[in-house]
Amino acid sequence: MSEMAAEKKESCGLFAIFGDPEAVQKTFLGLHALQHRGQESAGIASSDGETIQCYTGMGTVRRVFRAGKSILEKLSNPIAIGHVRYSTSGASKLINSQPFLSEYSHGQVAVAHNGNLINAALLRDEYEAYGSIFKSTSDTEIITHLLAKPTHISKPDQLAHVLNHLQGAYCLLFLFADRIEAARDPYGIRPLCIGLTEKGSYVIASETCAFDAIGAKFIREVEPGEIVRLDQNGLHSRFFVTPETITPAHCTFEHIYFAKQNSSFFGENVHEFRKKLGRRLAIEHPADADVVIPVPDSGTSAAIGYAEQSKIPFDMGMVRSHYVGRTFISPDQKQRELEVKLKLAVVREVVDGKRVVVVDDSIVRGTTTRGKIRAIRLAGAREVHMRVSCPPLRFPCFYGVDFPTKEELLANNRNLEEIKEFLEVDSVGYMPLEGLLSCAVLPPDHYCTACWTGKYKIPVDVAVNKFAVERHQLVMFDETDWE
Ligand code: SF4
Repeated sequence: MSEMAAEKKESCGLFAIFGDPEAVQKTFLGLHALQHRGQESAGIASSDGETIQCYTGMGTVRRVFRAGKSILEKLSNPIAIGHVRYSTSGASKLINSQPFLSEYSHGQVAVAHNGNLINAALLRDEYEAYGSIFKSTSDTEIITHLLAKPTHISKPDQLAHVLNHLQGAYCLLFLFADRIEAARDPYGIRPLCIGLTEKGSYVIASETCAFDAIGAKFIREVEPGEIVRLDQNGLHSRFFVTPETITPAHCTFEHIYFAKQNSSFFGENVHEFRKKLGRRLAIEHPADADVVIPVPDSGTSAAIGYAEQSKIPFDMGMVRSHYVGRTFISPDQKQRELEVKLKLAVVREVVDGKRVVVVDDSIVRGTTTRGKIRAIRLAGAREVHMRVSCPPLRFPCFYGVDFPTKEELLANNRNLEEIKEFLEVDSVGYMPLEGLLSCAVLPPDHYCTACWTGKYKIPVDVAVNKFAVERHQLVMFDETDWE
């Protein structure tokens, strides 16, 4: 993660495995590999074929399952799903942690969700008006109410019917006692991949890095609009929308920033894609300089590409500490700056007396970037040239990425000269949108670019607060309130 980790956060990571005696242990490992997608809470639900058990807690996977063996042993069953969470909808509370276990007239179901439902508040109003009681403020609970509605249960394909009520970005895992169903929205905004273990068990995960962690191989992605069912007869696929309504809008930001470098989805490997961005950036915005340094970690691949193309030596001018805990992760600006200071340190010997190109994946508010630029100058850099491997961020995301408000974004209402002055750099260069899309393997119209262009493929009411579901104040304390 780059220094801006506290400014833009992913919503969640998903993992599922069917028919493996070590399903729960593998889910733990898979979630651990997906930890970069969310550190606020983690949970695993498992089934022996008849009954579902679930355990969730606040914090990282390691922290939640710190009692280690005993919790994992208690959960030990051959069918399991898991979730790591960062809240884009619903407060960071235990009541909102997932998987979300419920019981309705057809039995138990545990649900795990990655994304953001833009019609969550509307659906919740509708259900509350008919007497439904909600115990969380997360948009995921609404899905369980949709499942339990008698008129939905009577449909020939109940799940497909329910999914057609959802609007927004969603990858979903449903654990029923005897099966797992995984679904991806018709826009395919968030990634969802299918893998296979050596012993022939199917696995599903947000990113393929989770397959690497358990020695499974990647087979393919869950298609936009597809439901994949895993049961004792194997894998079965069906679509819950007609082909004409499938409009791919993959989140470009997944590849630019969120995903791990060893993951592959949207048709290519994340590290290779970022290197391509770096090479293109060097063509778009060359610099007369002595050294190229990345903002680690997510700027590293692009900086390698920039150095390759420009023939300017690459070096690690900043190093990252991996030991800053979540105590420091706070939306408060001062806390954020402190976190950045603790996380990234400048290597004086690399930048002293040099003309330095700094490569990062993106700039959000700009204040933390400016802090780093100042530190690089203090360490003796003669010139600092900022290069960014995506276009200027100007619009909020309604599909599951937690950017600040439009007004807080550095590039909102600022031209390049003003951005350069704000950052206190000698030059600044952003990747143009056409350059970005030309690096991707899929056709340009298969991607979402709304945070740069303001063109939202799933229509949103920008006046509506994306956290509208939070109007319900469920005051329920948990241990995190005393941390
Ligand atoms: S608006 Fe930006 S961050 Fe959100 S889904 Fe689209 S590309 Fe991704």
